[in-house]
Amino acid sequence: GVHGLRVQGGAAHEPGPVALVLQDVTEARRVEAVRRDFVANVGHELKTPVGALALLAEATQGAADDPETVQRFAARMVHESDRLSRLVRELIDLSRLQGAEPLPELEPVLVHDVVAEAVDRTRLAAAAKGIELAVGEQDDLVVLGVEAQLATAVTNLLANAVTYSPDSTKIAVGTRAREGFAEIAVTDSGIGIPRADRARVFERFYRVDQSRASATGGTGLGLAIVKHVATNHGGSVAVWSEEGLGSTFTLRIPLAPTADVPGPASDPAG
Ligand code: ADP
Repeated sequence: GVHGLRVQGGAAHEPGPVALVLQDVTEARRVEAVRRDFVANVGHELKTPVGALALLAEATQGAADDPETVQRFAARMVHESDRLSRLVRELIDLSRLQGAEPLPELEPVLVHDVVAEAVDRTRLAAAAKGIELAVGEQDDLVVLGVEAQLATAVTNLLANAVTYSPDSTKIAVGTRAREGFAEIAVTDSGIGIPRADRARVFERFYRVDQSRASATGGTGLGLAIVKHVATNHGGSVAVWSEEGLGSTFTLRIPLAPTADVPGPASDPAG
């Protein structure tokens, strides 16, 4: 797991000074090991598209007198460079979320806006597969958060639902308030996730099926980003899945205290 890089709260069972030092050393070692793994993984992940681009460029040079082949190679170069940019973009997102930058100020955010933005961003990809996005919402839920991060998280869940679902299926997005949290659930009728992989899909670069991932252009970072967004907001993300039936990912974000809810008559100016 990659969670716990940003340590929050923890006043409940405070250890004594000696335990604290020991804990710091093991924690430092663990963080160092995670970092080493991460650098190795990034190197490996970058190697694939970069290598493919180099080969394609060379092959294109060799095919200069065959315009059709040049076209074909060019299309594949576009595909590989798209993959490379997505990987780099997600790596930057992830490093921000892991505390490379201070967390922006939390503000009251309408869950409705987050879902609408995410649906907007996935609509084209869904339409291309004839997939229907059905949004059923409880109105007026407000969380304390960073809207851009929350929109990225829900977009990642929706994009996965589209990627791992067959054509002409339906994806449902539901929101509701429960026990002080706003729950945003994305349900698909896709391929599902084998039991053994379920707990690990939130790890960086973890994919259920490597060969399938290269076909879908996945980076293995999407759910790690979702998990960090959830944790940074004091929330969580969970998965329910059944192979062959589909998956539900549920993002839980603390509801804003009612005092923070913007309303027509609640402006405490002055
Ligand atoms: P990727 O870029 O590969 O999709 P993610 O971190 O978003 O990376 O997801 C990790 C893995 O979890 C995916 O490679 C896929 O195997 C699995 N997965 C994620 N979402 C779903 C889903 N809705 N249905 C089935 N499998 C999924």
